[in-house]
Amino acid sequence: MTTPHAAAIYARISSDQTGEGLGVQRQLEDCRRLARERGWVVAEEYVDNDFSAYSGKTRPAYERMLSDVEARDRDAVIVYNFDRLTRAPIEFELFKMICAQAGLRHIASVTADIDVSTDDGMFMARVIAAVAAKESARRSERLKRKHQQLAEQGRPNGGHHRPFGYAPDRVSVVESEAQIIRELVARFLAGESMRSLATWLNEEGVAPVSGESWRTQSLRAMLMSGRIAGLREYRGQVVGEAAWPAIITPEQRRQVLARFAEKKATGRRAPRRYLLSGLLRCQRCGGRLYSNPRGDKRRYVCLNGPDHRGCGRLTITADPVEHLLAAAVRFRLDTPDLADALASRASMDERHASLVVELEADRAQLSELAGMYAARQITAEEWRTARAPITKRVEHAERQLQRASGTPAVDEWVGKGKELADRWATLPLERQALIMAAVLDHAVISPGVPGARGLDPDRVHPVWRL
Ligand SMILES: [Zn+2]
Repeated sequence: MTTPHAAAIYARISSDQTGEGLGVQRQLEDCRRLARERGWVVAEEYVDNDFSAYSGKTRPAYERMLSDVEARDRDAVIVYNFDRLTRAPIEFELFKMICAQAGLRHIASVTADIDVSTDDGMFMARVIAAVAAKESARRSERLKRKHQQLAEQGRPNGGHHRPFGYAPDRVSVVESEAQIIRELVARFLAGESMRSLATWLNEEGVAPVSGESWRTQSLRAMLMSGRIAGLREYRGQVVGEAAWPAIITPEQRRQVLARFAEKKATGRRAPRRYLLSGLLRCQRCGGRLYSNPRGDKRRYVCLNGPDHRGCGRLTITADPVEHLLAAAVRFRLDTPDLADALASRASMDERHASLVVELEADRAQLSELAGMYAARQITAEEWRTARAPITKRVEHAERQLQRASGTPAVDEWVGKGKELADRWATLPLERQALIMAAVLDHAVISPGVPGARGLDPDRVHPVWRL
């Protein structure tokens, strides 16, 4: 074997400065000394600034060294330790293959005196590489453990926003906000709704920690949190007392949770009372109308409040608009337009099948990307950039599929609108609503004249789905 005259030195900065981990300068010095001792001439030093041994990020210097080896411009490689050279056993196999193909037989490391030109030496190097890979995996496991440990010790972990009621250190209580929390809890337990409480906060000008205004969802999350009762949670489970002071007592929190559970149970039993839920839009602002009774009068209203972004300036009485649109739907079932729509739907079956295939492929790619991001093979920025066009395609395909999909609720009534009219009143409201939604995409409601008696049919503009 001839003495190398174009050796490569490879060094990598690692964030783990314990044990064998050393600054890059020290790695380089030791490698240079080894080259001198063996009489090897160093042609180039390759240094990567990889701060995480397991990040999976590309290492430009390493790649450059490999291509120089492949081009037979290098005849030896010196590393401080084999755990600097490769991060996974498979990578080491690849490195070995490239060296073998290029006829490079001199591989030396400072820490382990291994002669990789022999089978035994190669075996040792492979073991060291495997141990290094395992250590990298353990390091990322340690980070996860750290968060769990913080939780068990009752200490706060990071996050974008401070919790309402606490200072940015997440431990000191902001007394003015704590008083608001106590009042919210008292009023909620006395029977006030989330919606009413959120409205109160917004009207009082109480600033939330994030966002422009209070929503019932964030208010609910705050009132249900263990945090305000001085309890530390980890993955939704209370794991013990927290390091920060409580704003309400654990007993109060128990009552809050009980009341939410009770509301949920009764809410589920409430029967549907509105035929056109989700089907009406406000012409003023384009917003969706919501069922909103006043007294015993059922109404659809453009709402403006904590959870709704409508203009709040349009109301329509439920009964007449429901009668009008139900009649229109039944009438439409007998029209040739609908028969045409159904026929064109049949011709869409082929398109439908290819849409499903495309959609599946896009969804698989999205989850693959998420996996790469989770494994830190790509950055958040790369993930977002790659995701955007795929997400757009998925949304588009989903919309088209929705339009193309069958409408079993209405199929049996096509061409039988008059028959349906006779039976209409005997059908359960859920069933009626399915038929409505199958035929009607939505209806736009224009503003009425104040004080008008009865419904002006010109206020109702149906947009047909079929
Ligand atoms: Zn509106």
